[in-house]
Amino acid sequence: MLKEKNGIIFGVANKRSIAWATAQSVHGAGARLAFTYQGDRLKENVEGLTSVAMPDSLVLPCDVTKQDEVDETFNRLAQEFGRLDFVIHSIAFAPREALEGDFLKTDREAFVTALEISAYSLTQLARAAAPLMTAGGSIVTMTFHGAEKVYQGYNVMGVAKAALESSVRYLAADLGPRNIRVNAISAGPIQTLSARGVSGLSNMLKHHAERCPLHRNVEAREVADTALFLCSSLSSGITGETIHVDCGYNIMGI
Ligand code: NDP
Repeated sequence: MLKEKNGIIFGVANKRSIAWATAQSVHGAGARLAFTYQGDRLKENVEGLTSVAMPDSLVLPCDVTKQDEVDETFNRLAQEFGRLDFVIHSIAFAPREALEGDFLKTDREAFVTALEISAYSLTQLARAAAPLMTAGGSIVTMTFHGAEKVYQGYNVMGVAKAALESSVRYLAADLGPRNIRVNAISAGPIQTLSARGVSGLSNMLKHHAERCPLHRNVEAREVADTALFLCSSLSSGITGETIHVDCGYNIMGI
């Protein structure tokens, strides 16, 4: 499905990352991949995972708060891949203290940090990627239902995800004429490093599984396979959407 396609994946922290599940799906469909990691702390993790499973991959440092690292990432991509076909944006961050207690107490610094890393980075990466997407392309980001409804403890990350989902629509409108599609996947809760930073995660997992139509939690593989669909020509008519991959949780009222 993705033979002779080149993609870059932002957000592999470890083997539980949604980005890693996505890498396995798109690589299994034939894509050649580049990965980025944030800081030397994660270099070994990412290189350890890719060297065994995907030895032909490119692995590059990229902290999205450092514009020179973003520029260097896309320079290297231009040199090594030439053309880029898809981007998986699977990164988010908010200071831990902003992810517990009242949203009301969110300070300016936490707000700016969360919005910069979790929402603005999509626009930043889309702007850098678009010139390499000479044959059209697909950009996919990860969001959560906390953008639409209040989840206690999700707090400023919910506000960041709302900005992210809106950015998806504005970017889709800007990039559509170049046949570059931009979509978000709204995943149900999954046990990952980032998710463990949100207070009350185990309650959230339990509540979702009890209430949703499929009566279970979603698996990272299911999110990954939706990303594969969005990167492939099977989804050629879809852009600007937020697709829920949450075992149906979001459709439920009482
Ligand atoms: P992970 O912790 O595995 O992935 C998050 C990634 O974001 C990490 O690799 C992290 O690196 C990276 N990141 C943070 N700050 C920066 C930065 N400044 N520059 C570059 N990368 C950075 O968690 P998930 O796989 O759960 O998260 C992936 C995405 O999915 C996120 O957008 C998350 O909000 C979203 N999502 C997750 C859900 C869940 O329940 N798990 C549900 C719905 C959406 P580092 O570890 O160094 O901070």
